[in-house]
Amino acid sequence: MKVQCIDTDPARIRDIIAKSLDLQVLTLAEVSALLELQDEDMWAEVFEAAGKVKEKVYGRRIVLFAPLYLSNECMNNCLYCGFRAGNREAVRKTLSVEEAVEEASLLADKGYRRLLLVASEHPARTGIDYFEKVAAAIYSRTAIRILHANTAPMSVEDFRRLKSCGIGVYQCFQETYHLPSYMRLHPSGAKADYEWRISVMDRAVEAGFEDVGMGVLLGLYDWRWEVAALIAHSRRLINKYGFGPHTISVPRLQPAQGSKLDYRKYRVSDDDFKKIVAIYRLALPYVGIVISTREAPELRDGLLLTGASQVSAGSKTSPWGYVEGGDTEQFETGDKRSLEEVIEKIAELGLVPSLCTACYREGRSGGTFRHLAQSEAMKNFCRENALLSLKEYVEDCAPADVRQRLRAFLEREIIKSTNGLSDKFRLIEAGARDVHI
Ligand code: SAM
Ligand code: SF4
Repeated sequence: MKVQCIDTDPARIRDIIAKSLDLQVLTLAEVSALLELQDEDMWAEVFEAAGKVKEKVYGRRIVLFAPLYLSNECMNNCLYCGFRAGNREAVRKTLSVEEAVEEASLLADKGYRRLLLVASEHPARTGIDYFEKVAAAIYSRTAIRILHANTAPMSVEDFRRLKSCGIGVYQCFQETYHLPSYMRLHPSGAKADYEWRISVMDRAVEAGFEDVGMGVLLGLYDWRWEVAALIAHSRRLINKYGFGPHTISVPRLQPAQGSKLDYRKYRVSDDDFKKIVAIYRLALPYVGIVISTREAPELRDGLLLTGASQVSAGSKTSPWGYVEGGDTEQFETGDKRSLEEVIEKIAELGLVPSLCTACYREGRSGGTFRHLAQSEAMKNFCRENALLSLKEYVEDCAPADVRQRLRAFLEREIIKSTNGLSDKFRLIEAGARDVHI
């Protein structure tokens, strides 16, 4: 067999960068060149370009959210997860609808408006009926405006019901695309079915979800192979449906209670992690890239300038974690900062913290979202909505000292605006809420 050499010459890499800056999706050959790139000076150019691409699409805004863990009772046995059925030390809990509302209210009082519902797989306890009740109760009884969901794969029929109860983005990670690794790491339960998992996004789209979130769990297999596979999967969705993933998450394996997995074998270093985020950003320019609190503060802050566009903050990874601290966590978190600390850090970096939820409620999803992003119109919505949502946070939720600093920040941002933002700010000061475009 003839082995083809991958061209990573600076001229070739600069052509690829130019294509991304033109907001075009990269081919797999172009992704391979980035994956093979060794030259550190060229990597500096790639990182800079990733930051620029993010800014072309979304401007300077960084969206914030929190996960809401509903259950850790699981039928599966994913060897890396604290919730797996085989973890005998786990203290099991599924939130009642009342408890879910209590956790969501607490988060809403802190200022969150967007939550990601997360649940393990237990058809009897966390089936679609349960999600319908939880979503309806949170929407009707709290100030949360959009719920996304990271749940086990469902049938088309159940996805229709999930969509009807107002879930914005349906998220599910393939974990690993490498079949032998997948089979070894998922020995039992519904998740042992690779085919059912890899086809999940087709069923979600068939049921009406235009916004889907994808990811691989970094650290289970060779990251270069996984990143290429995820981008190939995304390209397939784009070719088939006219839109690909709305978000790509970048979960990296963390220690978990009762897991005996060897974490060193495919460990992804911080340097490689940063490269992965930049490659996703260049390969799929208009996709939201989500960084969780699995990662340490310094790494997360740096990634905000090299491609990331969304972060969770103040997260707890156990059911009942916000109200009482919770028991068994899914994994250990690396960033323990509160929402206000992360908001202040984002502002300090010259970016704009955003608690916006507008697009999902204004029909800017799927192909429409992609079109707006590619034509560089999205960042205008993002900037204005970020500032409006931050203004609301300042008025209602920010602690007194933070409020003062953020007011000064907003004053500086208003000066840069030309579109009547100060009138809208006055509306918010007079009591109007959920002001957005
Ligand atoms: N149970 C559903 C599933 O597995 O798809 C959805 C929720 S699961 C709680 C969310 C994600 O957490 C998983 O898809 C996996 O990628 C990630 N995860 C599990 N164990 C982890 C660990 N030890 N470190 C980091 N992420 C982990
Ligand atoms: Fe259950 Fe999901 Fe954890 Fe697997 S990753 S054990 S399916 S909660």
